[in-house]
Parts: sequence; structure tokens; C-alpha cells
Amino acid sequence: MEILRDHDLKAFNSFGISSRAAVLARACFTTDVGEGVRMALQEQLPLKILGGGSNILLRGEQVAFVMKMEIPGLEITRRDGANVYVTAGAGCEWEQLINFALSNHLWGIENLTLIPGRVGSSPIQNIGAYGVELKDVFHSLVAYDRHTSGFVELGRDDCRFGYRQSIFKSAAKGRYIITQVTLKLSLEARPVLRYSHLNEALSVRGISNPELTDVVELIRSVRQTKLPDPLLIGSAGSFFKNPVVKNGIADVIKASHADAPVFDAGSGYSKLAAGWLIEQCGWKGFRDGDAGVWPHQALVLVNYGKATGVELSDLANRIIESVSDRFGVDLEPEVNFW
Ligand SMILES: Cc1cc2nc3c(=O)[nH]c(=O)nc-3n(C[C@H](O)[C@H](O)[C@H](O)COP(=O)(O)OP(=O)(O)OC[C@H]3O[C@@H](n4cnc5c(N)ncnc54)[C@H](O)[C@@H]3O)c2cc1C
Repeated sequence: MEILRDHDLKAFNSFGISSRAAVLARACFTTDVGEGVRMALQEQLPLKILGGGSNILLRGEQVAFVMKMEIPGLEITRRDGANVYVTAGAGCEWEQLINFALSNHLWGIENLTLIPGRVGSSPIQNIGAYGVELKDVFHSLVAYDRHTSGFVELGRDDCRFGYRQSIFKSAAKGRYIITQVTLKLSLEARPVLRYSHLNEALSVRGISNPELTDVVELIRSVRQTKLPDPLLIGSAGSFFKNPVVKNGIADVIKASHADAPVFDAGSGYSKLAAGWLIEQCGWKGFRDGDAGVWPHQALVLVNYGKATGVELSDLANRIIESVSDRFGVDLEPEVNFW
């Protein structure tokens, strides 16, 4: 396993923040994972697992043993009628998996195109976009269990997926190191176009029965107008989760703001659009030094160049405070703070 000491992580996080890791270890084989865990223990350093670094905010130097998951692999492992099981190594780029599904005519993850990061991180927050979540196609994963020092296979129920949530972010935080993920995709066309603007955009293009490529191209074009290109502007995508509140709170907001986007979340709860709340508080396009709020989507905090993790988390705290003061709603970061 390649071991780099006192290594800058700037190139390994999508915010582009400079922060030195005491150790950066590149895990390219499954056997590297146990070795990395043992080395971190020997060196008495906390272990941190890194994928593509597109959902972390580095708030200072990393006095840690950072294990970067680079285990490759991407193949069809089983066919069962129209169902096709695709297994990928944790280090496989998520978009590589999307392209693999496209070239094999497999439906299920097309709405998740252009989400940066690695396959191994996708279960952590149950990645989601445009009405589809990982859990909808998830079959199983293999992970190194730090409690037993062995490998386990976990199914969908074990992972307890929720909105941007899983067991890996809650009860079992830090316990499992995911090495492989298997998804159950389908040869049968099943476009998910619940968002009305997706349907409208398709009809503008004169498409009534979309092919897989139509959906992928549509989602890619929508994302490119809203989100900063991670290669040009540092960000972690949505910085906050959309808050889920009791219906009574949503009703109060609706009464004074008829245009407020409110979605039924079931069992007496509603989901609010965090971006809308932030925009109402006047943050959209705000910039303080190099830390800012993306002018095209207020949910996205950006690093225009030299912002530090502390500056960005200070900005996030100011936003949380102002949304709480104005609407009585607590925003929760989606990003993982390191
Ligand atoms: C421009 C942009 C757009 C985005 N859009 C979306 C979106 O539409 N929907 C969405 O859900 N997310 C989105 N994201 C967030 C991000 O891309 C996803 O959360 C992605 O899954 C993170 O993958 P990563 O490999 O970069 O994870 P990292 O940032 O490296 O890690 C994220 C967390 O997972 C842990 N982790 C990583 N790999 C493993 C592993 N193998 N085993 C155990 N723990 C691990 C890390 O310790 C960390 O806590 C976006 C980000 C950007 C920059």
C-alpha cells in the first residue's frame, strides 16, 4: 500500500481546501484495508476514510491516518430475467458506473448522473437526485467491520437508508469500511420523471417515450445549469439537507409565503426546500472573501479560491442562524466535517 506522509489533501477534496494529512494511504486492494486499520492503530492516529472527497469539509490539519479508497472493479455479476446485478469496487468513480449502465442499457441510476465521488461512498448518505435514491437500486455491499476485524455482507435493510442517511452516518458511524457495492439494475425501461420540470423539458425536446440516453442527457443538462463545475469552483454540492418539519411549521410558512416549496413527507411531516429558505434570507450570491453562496443555487456553498474550511463553516453557521431566526427551522449540514 502506498503511504504518503505529511501530504496536502487539496487535490483530494472538491472544495479544494489545503490541509495536510499526517498519513495518506492509498488502498488499492481489499487486503490493504485491514493493513491500514492496523497501521493507524500502531501509529496511534485516528482513521479517516476518504473516497473522492466531494462531501467533506476540511476544517484544519488532519492529524490522522487517511485511507483513500481506490479499490477498482466494475462488472455484471448476475442476471435474473430483466434484473442485472452490477458489482463495483469502492474506488470506482460513480460516473464510470453510470456510463457502464448506459452502455449496457441498464435502467435505475440514470437520474443520479454527474454526482461526483466514488461508488464506495454512495451508501454513506444514500445519494439521491431527481426523485431517485441509491436505496431504490441497492442490493448489497461488502465492508470491513472494525469491531470484528473481518469482512461482512450487508443487505438493504441492514443499511437503514433514509433521506441522505444510513447506518454508516448514524448508529454504526466509523465501524464499516465499504469495499464493494452491488446494485440491482433493470433492462426494462422505467424512467422516473416525477419532477414536472423534467417532463416539461422532455416535451420541449419532442420526446414522449424517453430512452435511457434521453434521461441521462436531460439530467446532465439540468445539473450543469444549476451546480458549479467541481473542476472550476470548489464546492460539495448541497451543503445542507432539506429540512423535514412538522406540518404545522410548514403551514405557518405557507401562510405568509404562498410560493414556498413544501413537499409531503408523510406521517404529519413536510419537507421544505433548504435552498429556498436560504434565498429568502438574502444569502444567494453572497460572498465574503473567497467563501460564498452559489448565485444559481443557494444550497451550495463555494470556495472561490483560497477560502479555508473554518471560513466556510463560519458562513454555514451564519446561514443556519439566520434561517432559524426568520423561519424557526434548523438546517442540518449534509457535508461531513473533518
Ligand atoms: C458538485 C457536486 C454535486 C453533488 N450532487 C449530489 C447529489 O445530487 N446528490 C447527492 O446525494 N450528493 C451529491 N453530492 C455530494 C457527493 O458527491 C456525494 O455525497 C458522494 O457520494 C460523495 O462521494 P465521495 O467519494 O466524494 O465521498 P467522500 O467525500 O470522500 O466521503 C464522504 C463520507 O463518506 C465516508 N466514506 C467514503 N468512502 C467510504 C468507504 N468506502 N467506506 C466507509 N466510509 C466511506 C467518508 O469518511 C466521509 O464521511 C455532490 C457533490 C458535489 C461536489
